[in-house]
Amino acid sequence: MTWTPRGGIKVWVAERPIKHGTVAGYRAHYERGGKPCLECLDAYNAYRRARYVRTRTNAARCGTYAGARWHQSHGERLCDPCREARAAYWRSWRKARRAS
Ligand SMILES: [Zn+2]
Ligand SMILES: [Zn+2]
Repeated sequence: MTWTPRGGIKVWVAERPIKHGTVAGYRAHYERGGKPCLECLDAYNAYRRARYVRTRTNAARCGTYAGARWHQSHGERLCDPCREARAAYWRSWRKARRAS
């Protein structure tokens, strides 16, 4: 009796659980000939978006409301200048609302 499973490595690769919600998971879906699940698709989209945005960092500068929105849309924690800018935005928004 031998303990050499035939095609053991292949089986291991196929049964290795996909880490969903990651770019590696996204690729693993395709490696298996399937379509990525929503979680993995999201992760991949976020990854592509992040790469795209990194080439145009001036679009939403930190310390502005747009900067705060940018952090949020990328699922990031707001940095201090952006947090401050957002607070100021809401402060003035509430004030404007109360005045009308
Ligand atoms: Zn997945
Ligand atoms: Zn920021």
